[in-house]
Amino acid sequence: MNKKKDILILGAGPAGMAAAFELYKAGKSFVIIEKNERVGGLARTFQYGEFRTDIGPHRFFSQNQYLYDFIEDLLDKHWIRIDRLTRFYINGKFFLYPVELKNALLNVGFYGAFRILFDYFSQRIKKVFVNRNPVSFEEQVVSDFGRALAELNMLNYTEKIWGLHCSEISPDWSKQRIKGLSLKEVIKKTIIKSKGGPKTLVDQFYYPDLGTSLIYEKIKERILMYADGVLRFNSHPVKIINDGNKITKVVVNTEGNNQIIKPKFVISSIPITEFVSLLEPKAPDEILQAIKNLKFRSHVSLFITLNKPSVFPDQWIYFPDKEIPFGRIMEPKNFSKKMSPTDKTSLLVEFFCWKNDKIWNMSKKDLLELSMEWLEKLGFVKRDEVIKAFISKENYAYPVYDLNYKENSGKVKDYLGQFKNLQLIGRAGSFRYNNQDHALEMGILAARSIIEEKQYNLEEVGAEEEYFERGYVR
Ligand SMILES: Cc1cc2nc3c(=O)[nH]c(=O)nc-3n(C[C@H](O)[C@H](O)[C@H](O)COP(=O)(O)OP(=O)(O)OC[C@H]3O[C@@H](n4cnc5c(N)ncnc54)[C@H](O)[C@@H]3O)c2cc1C
Repeated sequence: MNKKKDILILGAGPAGMAAAFELYKAGKSFVIIEKNERVGGLARTFQYGEFRTDIGPHRFFSQNQYLYDFIEDLLDKHWIRIDRLTRFYINGKFFLYPVELKNALLNVGFYGAFRILFDYFSQRIKKVFVNRNPVSFEEQVVSDFGRALAELNMLNYTEKIWGLHCSEISPDWSKQRIKGLSLKEVIKKTIIKSKGGPKTLVDQFYYPDLGTSLIYEKIKERILMYADGVLRFNSHPVKIINDGNKITKVVVNTEGNNQIIKPKFVISSIPITEFVSLLEPKAPDEILQAIKNLKFRSHVSLFITLNKPSVFPDQWIYFPDKEIPFGRIMEPKNFSKKMSPTDKTSLLVEFFCWKNDKIWNMSKKDLLELSMEWLEKLGFVKRDEVIKAFISKENYAYPVYDLNYKENSGKVKDYLGQFKNLQLIGRAGSFRYNNQDHALEMGILAARSIIEEKQYNLEEVGAEEEYFERGYVR
């Protein structure tokens, strides 16, 4: 076997590239198979002439110091720190997000504020008498915040992202993303802010000045200095052959040509559903059924370049109202000035959808028309300011945490656990709602498991029930 193919990495997104970089540093031989023509996966950056954009806002934050050092080593002065400004647009008003007390109370008025406080304290009292674990996202956030604040801030937007009613979404989704934020926290934050306290992971974030995929482009530069051919684009597995104990061979198609790789180890970040469907012999029916039940939410983005220097001051704005067809808009220039020419700017309009639904199948022209109606109403853009529009689609954007996701993904992972030379990493690869930090961490630990001949528990990455954004910017 060619020495360069000892370790087969499937997917060149953040998780796969982090694994590759760690293996490269340890002098191990590997090959990465990537179906696209670029590295970065969901965290890749598109360039259209002088304009750049990511696939949705990519704010880097982590509680792991090692990851900041890992990225700083790659990016040096290209790693910039940004003061966050993000808002919600609800019922014709802009609310700061995360919620700020004064702004929220002014926007909701006296009656709205009374309802928020009444619902919140009713829930606190109810919790004293009824001690029941919430069984859905809806129950969890209503119990933590009271219904009025939950409706204002969380329920509608969550339903827009997931395309499911909040009663059908697992409470796990709120645990690390929202839990720990509470009315008490909002009041505490207001006091800390008024005293000029330290910046938290919510107030500021890091960003590569040429777009988030600069991290992965820099890894690519380094590993390609080491050896040609370790990174294959336009390449995907067509068969994953196993002997019930190990992955023995993988048939890889690169630009139309099949080749057999016999890896000692496989690190996979491709969607877990695709991985199982390629197995030979086939997985048992029960596992194939579990795979069918694991759903991914898709994402369509419309990128519009504009003949004006600025649209709004925010990095992004959320649009929870259901009559508005898109869910979020970001202005890349507010992440880094280098994302647009000085006298121009751009917007990325994001739609959350299912593969093959109406939005997914819409043409660029129709999507632009649908968006422009609202962009004009909101006073953001006039039609004669639009230079060009581009669309991009991601099928596997969000692993869906429905009420049965844990049981289904657990079954599949237990089954794949029999292959002793296989490690599953990343967002779609391990069916975990990872951000870049946890994808990177999983990749690094998978590589170390091979280098140190000691199996790290990848399922523990990001599994803490603590709110992810707790902590301060270093
Ligand atoms: C809209 C949006 C906003 C986000 N915002 C943030 C944010 O603010 N902060 C943050 O940190 N993270 C954010 N993320 C998450 C971040 O993008 C992901 O956590 C990260 O990209 C996951 O990395 P990964 O390597 O696990 O998976 P991916 O990025 O999905 O990479 C997987 C790779 O595998 C390749 N692949 C798939 N199938 C095959 C196949 N059959 N054969 C070969 N290759 C294949 C893909 O092309 C891809 O390159 C956001 C994601 C989205 C969609």
